[in-house]
Amino acid sequence: MFSYSNRGASDDASGQQPATALDALRTVFGYDSFRGQQADIIDHVVRGGDALVLMPTGGGKSLCYQIPALVRDGVTVVVSPLIALMRDQVTALQELGVRAAFLNSSLGPAEAREVERAMVQGEIDLVYVAPERLVTPRFLDLLDRTRLALFALDEAHCVSQWGHDFRPEYLQLSILHERHPMVPRIALTATADVQTRAEIKDKLGLTDARVFLSSFDRPNITYRVVPKKSERQQMLAFLRENHPEDAGIIYCMSRNKVEEVAAWLNQQGREALPYHAGLPAEVREANQDRFIKSEGLVMVATVAFGMGIDKPNVRFVCHLDPPKSLEAYYQETGRAGRDGLPANAWMAYGMADVVMLRQMLEQSEAGDSHRRVERGKLEALLGFCETPDCRRQVLLNYFNETLPEPCGNCDTCLDPVETWDGTIAAQKALSAVYRTGQRYGAGHLIDVLVGNATEKVVQQNHDQLKTFAVGKDLTKVEWQSVYRQLVATGLLTVDLEYGGFRLTDAGVAVIKGQRVVKLRKDPVLERRRGVHDALRRHTARGGSVGGNGEGVSRSGARGALSAADDALWHALKDCRTALAKAQSVPPYVIFHDSTLLEMVAQRPRDHAAFAHLPGVGGRKLERYADAFLEVIRQHG
Ligand code: ADP
Ligand code: ZN
Repeated sequence: MFSYSNRGASDDASGQQPATALDALRTVFGYDSFRGQQADIIDHVVRGGDALVLMPTGGGKSLCYQIPALVRDGVTVVVSPLIALMRDQVTALQELGVRAAFLNSSLGPAEAREVERAMVQGEIDLVYVAPERLVTPRFLDLLDRTRLALFALDEAHCVSQWGHDFRPEYLQLSILHERHPMVPRIALTATADVQTRAEIKDKLGLTDARVFLSSFDRPNITYRVVPKKSERQQMLAFLRENHPEDAGIIYCMSRNKVEEVAAWLNQQGREALPYHAGLPAEVREANQDRFIKSEGLVMVATVAFGMGIDKPNVRFVCHLDPPKSLEAYYQETGRAGRDGLPANAWMAYGMADVVMLRQMLEQSEAGDSHRRVERGKLEALLGFCETPDCRRQVLLNYFNETLPEPCGNCDTCLDPVETWDGTIAAQKALSAVYRTGQRYGAGHLIDVLVGNATEKVVQQNHDQLKTFAVGKDLTKVEWQSVYRQLVATGLLTVDLEYGGFRLTDAGVAVIKGQRVVKLRKDPVLERRRGVHDALRRHTARGGSVGGNGEGVSRSGARGALSAADDALWHALKDCRTALAKAQSVPPYVIFHDSTLLEMVAQRPRDHAAFAHLPGVGGRKLERYADAFLEVIRQHG
């Protein structure tokens, strides 16, 4: 638990205000230049304008209000929905020497009073507040007595009733503007969904705010969807190959599966923790805390885990079960690679998943408009999983954004998928469904197609059918792929109770020869390539880490971290861990991976060179340069 006073954040920064936004960026945050629309947004807000900022995770939203908070006179009030998030942000700011604090239920009365006093006295630049506290008479009165610089409404999508993060208190935030009409407001969100955006504007009364819309592309994330064979083994191989020591998240649908997969990973020698809503609150909190504070831990979780995790070096997000929708997929995978370094989104997807999704569609068949929307979402998800085209294009297109060229950084771009004219195969597969009475699933149908006279086939006289053994041209695995795609593309649908396949009108049209069917050829081997290589490529090139994918080569030549660089990299991480432990803060609060990688690449020898590293501002130079310079010296 930290408060403003007991951390002594203000000892060397007492009220000195940077003259300009660029000054603040350089001296406090240690970055050279603004990224994307940051400069415009900050300029607009510093001048007193209202803003609605729509920027993806990792895009650099925090600076958009933190810098105005330093440049403008008075206190900036940041509304933030989660205690863990507030604590992390405040810790990180205090590390930078910024006078920041939070007010929430985790503070005792004396600590809270101290923060309140500091606000009124103007001894503080930023205060993070939970929305429920903000609208209390006590706090409103406090605001009346405080000189205010700015209201920042973080995670503004919490105002949306349709989203899963809805927080009713957000609906009352318009009171801030009513009481303090002259104080500018900035609302920020990473939500990519158009409806939610409109709702934010409306509900927060931001109709006159200037809207800053960034691209929602996350160029540093490599998207992959692999056909499921044995999902755990596939995932383990993927982790061993690409992320032997990285932190990441594995999403599963059920609590049971979360527990099982976590236990299994530990048996395989990979440290993993479970997280789901069925665990006691203290266990959840402890597991989350360990995930944030350690380096290479894997979190196996249901979707209950995620919001408020701003650990920047989550290097991978795996899905062992499909997400609910493409929005959910984007949000969940978006937790990887906040720091802009290469990260992987990996999903295993197979017949059982398609059947389950199709059954969900069947359930929602009866047509009110809400269900139609749900249907559209599931269809889009299936389309994404099955596409032979660039996954990023499909994903961004879903959010009404066009990526003109294939991305070069997803599985279908890196290992192009062949397509084939599957019309005849589809006709055979669909006829098998029809002639067996539209009651069976893929296993039995494939036996019929390949002429496998099992007991069940013989018993049902299915060896007498015209379709018996007409499919010897394809293997069982290939037929699996055909059926999966027929179900995914809606030529077949799935019986709710027994999971048997039935023809749809579109399927009938194929049998009648009125429709051609294009199928993707599933890749046989998963290629071995990944983020580890990309990180190495980055260092080998000695290029600057631009963050958010800038400077990350998508197709660059493979390079390897030399043994000496590798040793230095680990030694720097150990140094960071020790410093973090001593202060009981997450390691990334000391320095991000990108800063450590730059140390490896540049090997600074003195304070002047150290000060040039991205992410090294005045305060961190003073506090940490010596420790890291010593490590670099030892690795001469
Ligand atoms: P968001 O809140 O949009 O998810 P953050 O504000 O956490 O993103 O920023 C993501 C990462 O980018 C952080 O590591 C941050 O320090 C870094 N960053 C932000 N702006 C810049 C910049 N102008 N130059 C370099 N790094 C930046
Ligand atoms: Zn692509």
